Amino acid sequence: MKTVARRLFGLFGDPVGHSLSPHLQNEAFRLLGINGVYLSFAIKPAELGAAVEAVRCLKMGGVNITIPHKERIVPYLDRLAGDALLTGSVNTVVPEDGKLVGYSTDGEGFLLSLRHQGQMEPAGKKVVLLGVGGAARALAFRFAQEGVAALYLVGRNPEKTAGLRADLLDRTGFSARGLSFSEPALMKVAAEADLVINATPLGMFPAVKEQPAFPLAVCHRDCLVADLVYHPLETAFLREARKLGLPTLEGLGMLVYQGILACRLWTGLTPPFAPLFQLLNGLLAKKEAFHG
Ligand code: NAP
Repeated sequence: MKTVARRLFGLFGDPVGHSLSPHLQNEAFRLLGINGVYLSFAIKPAELGAAVEAVRCLKMGGVNITIPHKERIVPYLDRLAGDALLTGSVNTVVPEDGKLVGYSTDGEGFLLSLRHQGQMEPAGKKVVLLGVGGAARALAFRFAQEGVAALYLVGRNPEKTAGLRADLLDRTGFSARGLSFSEPALMKVAAEADLVINATPLGMFPAVKEQPAFPLAVCHRDCLVADLVYHPLETAFLREARKLGLPTLEGLGMLVYQGILACRLWTGLTPPFAPLFQLLNGLLAKKEAFHG
């Protein structure tokens, strides 16, 4: 009997114990009939080079990269492609013709969630990003290329905000505006916004009562309020938006879409969104019921 070797895929980060990616990718492989297994590996920064060599040596099918390695991994790869080339941040490594290529599916993952779940097309919209870290960077570069009418970057560290603005201008020609959370102009920006996104970790389990300081009450009633945090599914920020009658978008959709895009890069096949979303939604609901 001929047996076909099972292909190994994985996640490199630290910590990774809480990650939903193994659930998502193993179910995606099952749905697609792919003979693969996806495991998470806790990798310290000093071990990253050896871990990337293991991807080559074990002929792994691909890996995802998460905190704290998304930028640190770049020197170990043969080249970057797509959004990773622009942002310098990698969340998916793909073996291509004996080389390891770094991609980023975070920005596109959010856009797919925005379009399919939030029913919003970003072109021509005024977008407010709260936070200027890795996820905000991925989204900002996408928005810069999607023809948004305005992009406001709200950060607590003016140098970091200025750095992202400069990179956007330099690499895409797009001019975003930088603001702090305490700036009076934030009221006017909030009143005109079509889309407000929490790209900070505020509200993430276990600090579920936290939320970014943003005047949601002055937003117009069609302003879509999105959160990248997905645990809990409904953050304090989204709960306030819902109380105000504003439409909302949870972070789980982005997580599922970025995983679908990674799976497609590795296998050439696109797993279906609905069963994967339901699976992770159920797992998170169980976690929330457990923690009360
Ligand atoms: P990150 O690189 O650490 O960036 C976090 C940003 O939030 C930074 O700008 C940070 O400011 C800011 N911030 C942190 N605490 C703050 C506070 N108390 N007040 C104001 N700003 C604050 O993290 P990330 O990778 O961008 O991730 C951000 C969040 O998005 C996390 O919760 C992550 O789980 C989530 N995420 C979700 C998905 C998804 O698929 N749904 C994907 C990626 C990320 P400083 O720079 O000054 O520290």
